[in-house]
Amino acid sequence: MKHLKYIFLSVLFVSVGVFAQEEEKPERKPGHTNNNKFKQLYDEFSSPNMYRAASGAPGPAYYQQQADYKMDLVLDDDKARISGFETITYHNNSPDPLSYLWVQLDQNMRAKDSQSPLIQGSGVAPAQQVGSFTSAYMTEGFDGGFKIEEVKDAAGKDLPHMINRTMMRIELPKPLMTGEKFSFSIKWWYNINDYVNMGGRSGYEYFPEDGNRNYIIAQFYPRMAVYSDVEGWQNSQFWGRDEFALPFGNFEVNITVPSDHILDATGKLTNRKEVFSKEMMKRFEQAKKSYDKPVMIVTQEEAEAAEKGRATDTKTWKFYAENVRDFGFASSRKYIWDMMAVKIGGKDVMAVSMYPKEGNPLWEEWSTYAVASTLKSYSRMTFDYPYHKAISVHAKNQGMEYPMICFNYGRPDKDGNYSDRTKYGMISVIIHEVGHNFFPMIVNSDERQWTWMDEGLNTFVQYVAEQDFGEWYPAALSEGHDNYPSRRGPAANIVPYMGGDQDFIAPIMTKGLNTYQFGNNAYGKPGTALNILRETVMGRELFDYAFKEYANRWMFKHPTPEDFFRTMEDASAFDLDWYWRGWFYTTDYVDMGVKEVKKYYVSGEPNEYVKNIVKQRGMKMSDLPPLVYMVEEGSEEYNESLKNGTLLENSPTLKEYIMDNFSEEERAKIKEPKYFYSITFEKPGGLVMPIIVEYTYADGTSKTEKYPAQIWRLNDNEVSKAVASDKEIVKITVDPNLETADVDTSNNSWPKEIKQSKFDEFKNEVKN
Ligand SMILES: [Zn+2]
Repeated sequence: MKHLKYIFLSVLFVSVGVFAQEEEKPERKPGHTNNNKFKQLYDEFSSPNMYRAASGAPGPAYYQQQADYKMDLVLDDDKARISGFETITYHNNSPDPLSYLWVQLDQNMRAKDSQSPLIQGSGVAPAQQVGSFTSAYMTEGFDGGFKIEEVKDAAGKDLPHMINRTMMRIELPKPLMTGEKFSFSIKWWYNINDYVNMGGRSGYEYFPEDGNRNYIIAQFYPRMAVYSDVEGWQNSQFWGRDEFALPFGNFEVNITVPSDHILDATGKLTNRKEVFSKEMMKRFEQAKKSYDKPVMIVTQEEAEAAEKGRATDTKTWKFYAENVRDFGFASSRKYIWDMMAVKIGGKDVMAVSMYPKEGNPLWEEWSTYAVASTLKSYSRMTFDYPYHKAISVHAKNQGMEYPMICFNYGRPDKDGNYSDRTKYGMISVIIHEVGHNFFPMIVNSDERQWTWMDEGLNTFVQYVAEQDFGEWYPAALSEGHDNYPSRRGPAANIVPYMGGDQDFIAPIMTKGLNTYQFGNNAYGKPGTALNILRETVMGRELFDYAFKEYANRWMFKHPTPEDFFRTMEDASAFDLDWYWRGWFYTTDYVDMGVKEVKKYYVSGEPNEYVKNIVKQRGMKMSDLPPLVYMVEEGSEEYNESLKNGTLLENSPTLKEYIMDNFSEEERAKIKEPKYFYSITFEKPGGLVMPIIVEYTYADGTSKTEKYPAQIWRLNDNEVSKAVASDKEIVKITVDPNLETADVDTSNNSWPKEIKQSKFDEFKNEVKN
């Protein structure tokens, strides 16, 4: 019987809706396409296939190419020039026959005929690095770029090749079929750039006081482009901005440098005994067992003595690296060198720092600890760090990553003093660049195409790692800092960007070269979006599991944005299409607030709303099921009910129902809310987000509720929540802890807090 009544009731209200429409005879509105914020991402995503599964995991036919390198390199310190002979063995694991190969010549970005300066369209720079200025306006310019001397096959026969700016196409004698490999060699050299004065991600810094250079060498050899199921050949040119896309492979590299240089690189040093002194070997053995503090392999005293000399003979350092996507090294006679062991998943990894005396005392204090701490934090969030070492090299103005080695800024003043800004900047850049070992060196996404996939994911984990570092090394924190002061990650820090001028904001899903405000676009916003997703939307447990799943699925593989988006949903049962759509595909921002609050009471008398329905339908009141009537405080009906004494306590229908349907025991436990509120939340911002609301009651207590983002699915502008309470609500605050990146908090409270505008403040100041 009860059941029937409910059906009747719903029919009643549905039909009334139809009536109302007929009476008003609204004009027909034009139809519109589905712009719902919760629309599935099917239009944006390509279809899953045998290579990439709908779950976001690699599919059964997933493949990736392999490029193995053997290189002999010579660093000429007098001429600041590097030359190399490399043999590449390229394995075609794709199902496609390849008639040519593409090799990346990134150094050509600095060639005399480089197109990079020609696409700068912002007029005269108000300030410019001296070297760039002289190259641009005063001299012939730096003679950079690869000098390719020969390209030969394994038999020593010249291979036809064509250079299109930063890409070289090599013609194969016959198509390279599935499962086949092809070996060829390239002989090259180039002039190394002074990156401090001319810019660049690698090169040297010259120290006029002692006449030495600090070489940080990367993108230094012709590197195979990626061939994949997604792009075919990824041969998008290097303009200098977007980083790299590289296949995995094994590297055997011999580097010949002046004999008094200290050098470290990607890979295992295979001839340590030949290049280390007996003393260094002894210290190295100690370092392997030192888990709590770094051991000096080369002391500052030794480094300072070395930088006074200039060896005329050479030494060759030999490295072997397995399953890496790139190779980098650093070499100088100025280096101090320290190492410490760190346990990762039961294995020992060496945390290493290499720095000239100019980095001290800051570098000997914190660099190696920051490396060790980063490996622990990232391993916890993803997978155990699989390589045997991670090196942080001091390099002025740099922050750049390669497998096992990275170049980082952070230099004290000449007198050894340093500011908080320098200290935190240095620790943060080390955490960030060491973190890049995970994204994109191991989870090998295409940086040329999707800057956010490495920088955004990395900035997110960097935030987690910085907080760990602050906790594990409180001595590194300055007075007054209880936590590590992370620049990126906290929601509030992205507000000025997201609330800024829309003409200069691009969606995250934009190629780096084409975005405005690169740092905010590719690092800040995606990093923060993931942090908000973790802390506010999904919760740590669901997020961390899914994030780890993504990292493990794509470890040593090439993921795309969709693989990430799909996996995060697949592993969590959390519908996130709306989140990706809003945060990654648009430039919408968060702005939510309280618009209106109405207070209601239960009345025993039928209200106008119900009376109208009964009239329209030609029914009698007795036809209706028992109903509870709500009247708004201050309304005519409310006053009427108040006068007649029919408010809450006197609703006979409700009382009767309770008596008939609940046992005495149940009645004793029944809640009796006195206050009913209809709270209207508004959303001037385009992004849909959960509404986090703090309700403060008359007795001073408060309660926080979170309404899922789906509350906005049927109305993108405003929604109203019915809230019943036995205590009077005196204050409502939306996003009380500033965790959603709400760009305008002036509408976040009820009753509205009167805030002085900046202009009023100014006026008052002037008056006073
Ligand atoms: Zn980065």
